[in-house]
Amino acid sequence: MEDARGHPLIQRIVTAADLRSRFVLMTNIWMPFHRRPDVTNEQVEVKYEGCSNIFDNYVVTPHGHLMSCCGLTMEYIDELRIGHIDTHDLLTTYNEQYRDLLKLWIWLDGTRFIFDEAAARGVSAELLSPHPCSVCAQIYQDPAVRQEVRKMVLENAEQIVFRATLKLRMRSRPDTPARPRSGSSFGLEEPSEGGNNGS
Ligand code: SF4
Repeated sequence: MEDARGHPLIQRIVTAADLRSRFVLMTNIWMPFHRRPDVTNEQVEVKYEGCSNIFDNYVVTPHGHLMSCCGLTMEYIDELRIGHIDTHDLLTTYNEQYRDLLKLWIWLDGTRFIFDEAAARGVSAELLSPHPCSVCAQIYQDPAVRQEVRKMVLENAEQIVFRATLKLRMRSRPDTPARPRSGSSFGLEEPSEGGNNGS
């Protein structure tokens, strides 16, 4: 932050009367990806609440991919890439998401709740970052967490559908989540050999 404050360009902006009021310097969230795992910002407040991004932010990326959210790790989670603008109907693809029980659960209780529940059941996985999107990536990518969460989703299927239906109706949305029917609607396929993509 001090480096940024001292930068000549920023100095010029904050000393110019017509620009100063339009400029805000703020610390943004940083989380470990690949190149600089040593650079983190751990000052994210832990909140046990549903993700407010999924289902509300339906994204088309510059490459035409349809994404379930605009979370920081969305490009690293295969299950959040739900179609392509050239081949998928926008509305149908959006509505199909409500068949995915894990996404409903993330929407209801949030990734940290789900991760901590898995940990309480004996899954040993070190939290890489408290940011909910990083936790989300761990849930989908860490084979042990993924496998346990899949079991938890199956065990909690009915209450997830019930609570999601209530939440949708309270938000005056006519959509109702589909009832759980087959493995493909639980949001996590059985782990393939060697785990998920591991990106
Ligand atoms: S927590 Fe997961 S679903 Fe929610 S915005 Fe982040 S990456 Fe997307």
